Amino acid sequence: MNRIQAPLAAGNNKNAASYEQKTTVGAEMEEIAGRKELEAHWVRVCDRLRKEIGDKAFKTWFGEVELGKLETGKLRLYAPTRFVRDWVARHYGDRVLAYWQAVNTTVSSVEVNLVPPPAPRRANDIIAVPPVPTSPQSYQSSSLPRLGPAIGRGSEDALQGPEARYTFANFVVGKPNEFAYAAARNIAEQDRPLPERNPLYIFGGVGLGKTHLMHAIWHAIRERDPKTRVLYLTAESFVNRFIQALRTKNTGQFKELFRNVDVLMVDDVQFICGKEASQDEFFFTFNSLVEQNKQIVLSSEKPPSELQDIEERMRSRLGSGLVADIHSSTYELRLSILQTKAENARVPVPVSVLEFLAHKISTNIRELEGALNRVVAHGQLIGREITVEMAQDVLHDLLRQADRKVTVDEIQQRVAAHYNIKLAEMSSPRRARSVARPRQVAMYLAKQLTTLSLPQIGKRFGNRDHTTVMHAVRKIEELKVSDLSIAEDVELLKRQLQG
Ligand code: ADP
Ligand code: MG
Repeated sequence: MNRIQAPLAAGNNKNAASYEQKTTVGAEMEEIAGRKELEAHWVRVCDRLRKEIGDKAFKTWFGEVELGKLETGKLRLYAPTRFVRDWVARHYGDRVLAYWQAVNTTVSSVEVNLVPPPAPRRANDIIAVPPVPTSPQSYQSSSLPRLGPAIGRGSEDALQGPEARYTFANFVVGKPNEFAYAAARNIAEQDRPLPERNPLYIFGGVGLGKTHLMHAIWHAIRERDPKTRVLYLTAESFVNRFIQALRTKNTGQFKELFRNVDVLMVDDVQFICGKEASQDEFFFTFNSLVEQNKQIVLSSEKPPSELQDIEERMRSRLGSGLVADIHSSTYELRLSILQTKAENARVPVPVSVLEFLAHKISTNIRELEGALNRVVAHGQLIGREITVEMAQDVLHDLLRQADRKVTVDEIQQRVAAHYNIKLAEMSSPRRARSVARPRQVAMYLAKQLTTLSLPQIGKRFGNRDHTTVMHAVRKIEELKVSDLSIAEDVELLKRQLQG
């Protein structure tokens, strides 16, 4: 039995304190003394561990584990990844606890947590190309304004540019994405935007390559003509900057950002939905650039027709150029992406393993990449041969999820039982809140957990119209934010259904 719990960390102690809440000023001195003592203990625990398991294993598993706090007997460690966390807890848990107890008798348990994710990387949040960016200095003196604090350390970050591997060359083309790929290439190769292809609006589900294509356009344009001024930003960044500009009464500087661009790319425009003032500003920016015959590229998870809470003039503007969708991936495309990635990683992965992954992980390309990385890392780190069995073992949590197909029947049953209403109410015409809300929750879950379309879901709920389902999904999305009990219900039900 492991007395160490899965949700541990301390080789580097420098950041650990910041993961935890600051104490009051009064207790500060005491805390510093306590912390020093705890760190000294941790050094001793680490020394013993290193002696016992060897330098190499110690570095692999504890190199990035960080020391947290000791509170009422519970000592917290932080692991950099889920994988390291689980591994340390499972294989070294007992030893870590025993060594701690040897140096500090107040420790009764050790808990390994995951290091909280860092703040989202800002570098790719907004990328601007100055006319001739040869050095940070030339960037600053260029005609583009400084991008402000939101991108981190000013121009340095902006110069980092887009994700280097998101190029056309690294984009694997197949039936589901060939149109979007061709459209993106075409934009990157045009000297002047063609009105009928402006804006280019790329849409498709999460993790299917939209951002990759946009960064690829960026690289290609830069390669063709380094003087072209390209600005890429996420819609979220647009909104945040705009709001900040309003707050600081500095919209002039905000507008300046867009003034001299030749190509504007805005990623995930669905984020602008429902944000009226930002939408107006976006509409204005958009129009003035199109009028000057500048190219605009947008991406979204939905086609213009399915965006909600958006003005009609905006909707028609978004769809007025070339709309290109990326369909969900096919087995062939997934396999070919895996082959390319495995080749790039220069690690021999048997075809049977690639086939297995392409077959089992069909949700999106990001997950597929993640799965391959995990298998390869596992092979490299602990020198285990890469086989289908090994992949099965390493990915058991992911695969269990993929195997588990939730049905509408199950959803209706669970939800009805949870809210203590009759199953028949799921399809009844009754609109009383006591049954309507659970029904909406069930519709929401059906949309989230199955691949059925809105009309198909409506059918299963007493032949309701797809707009009713859409309304239900929106309602629950709103309530999840404003009503904690609904948010908890939904999470609980989701876990039970996927369990
Ligand atoms: P989206 O923006 O649509 O959510 P991303 O562009 O972030 O998706 O893609 C997710 C991950 O999958 C990225 O690492 C990307 O490189 C990879 N990816 C997606 N499609 C392809 C493809 N066709 N070829 C190679 N890699 C791809
Ligand atoms: Mg994206």
